[in-house]
Amino acid sequence: MSPTAPAASAPAPSKPAAAASGRVFNFSAGPGVLPEDVLKQVQTDVWNIQGTGIGILEHSHRGKLVDKVFAECEADIRALANIPANYKILYLTGGASAQNHMIPMNWMTPGKTGDYLITGHWSEQTYKQAQKLTGKPGYGAANLAVTTADKKHSYIPGDDQIKYSASPAYIHYCSNNTLYGTEWFRIPKTPAGVPLICDASSHMYSRPIDISRYAMVYAGAQKNLGPAGVTLCIIREDFAEAGSKDIPDLLQYRKFIPELSRPNTPPVFAVYVMGLCAKWIIKSGGLAAMQKHNESKAKFIYDAIDAAPSFYQGHAQKDARSLMNITFRLPSDEMTDKFVKEAAAQGMDGLKGHRNVGGIRASCYNAFPVAGCKALGEFMREFARKNG
Ligand code: PMP
Repeated sequence: MSPTAPAASAPAPSKPAAAASGRVFNFSAGPGVLPEDVLKQVQTDVWNIQGTGIGILEHSHRGKLVDKVFAECEADIRALANIPANYKILYLTGGASAQNHMIPMNWMTPGKTGDYLITGHWSEQTYKQAQKLTGKPGYGAANLAVTTADKKHSYIPGDDQIKYSASPAYIHYCSNNTLYGTEWFRIPKTPAGVPLICDASSHMYSRPIDISRYAMVYAGAQKNLGPAGVTLCIIREDFAEAGSKDIPDLLQYRKFIPELSRPNTPPVFAVYVMGLCAKWIIKSGGLAAMQKHNESKAKFIYDAIDAAPSFYQGHAQKDARSLMNITFRLPSDEMTDKFVKEAAAQGMDGLKGHRNVGGIRASCYNAFPVAGCKALGEFMREFARKNG
């Protein structure tokens, strides 16, 4: 299926998304919309997958079927970003948030610093967990290299604003800020040889990514890659090996490598759906095609913001506008509520912004259809005309 194809439900002018399928345009920030082809395949496979007579939810995680599902998912994830062989693919539990403590526990060891770039809520949470361990027996210190809190995380810092510590064990940043709607369109400049860790949860595989620039990239699947329950982690093997051996096994990245992500019972179903999503991206033309698809979708909404500048105020600076999470405010809270209510009546759900930012947030992940972005853009223009 082409990513630019509209939702299977034929849009009717007054209620764009709701139609025969009963589905609406789901702008949720995550868990978010999944490809319709994937959902249909899941419906079949929950009952009986690949003629085994057993549904995907019921298969042993040590059995042949799950071996195959995991291996195919890995092969497709690798193929999509041309991942070098010295990087391992791990399927982790505990969400993206579990990395917040696992990272310092592995590498922020005595005498070492972990450097943190804060550009939004989630990178701040990551830093806070490292701060908790700072100075405790067995740990080094977290260093705040930069924060964009001065302007409510509405921009991405320049390299000259970032102040790294003398010799960091790693540098961590979050490449798409889900709440504030800003995105890094470059990789931050880092001192030579220092491992760079990236939380790419809310835009993973929305556009091409050069994994070789990182020591580790991770992403909770529930936005662009599948359902909640699995965190994809792509890690350079030598970096995983350099992690502390003094912490519990399930907190050591290295322990997941020889066990093929199965040191204990893994989230089989979530990995299976992630595999289907990876196949859907491949079928849709790969990551470069995803980028075009996502750029054209976001344009409908950003153009509508820019067309009514006295009515809509975009949160992100223009050069930092996320392709995935589009944030803007209306003149008042009452007007925002009216917007959300009227949009919902037209089949557009999940638009209320996060409480930290207020206003509206439209999340347009990979599987979100072009028709939904077009419908929202048109609705926004009409709403501003009527209420501005
Ligand atoms: N990082 C980012 C960028 C996120 O958007 C989120 C969730 N919205 C998280 C981390 C936390 O993910 P989880 O809920 O899977 O722990």
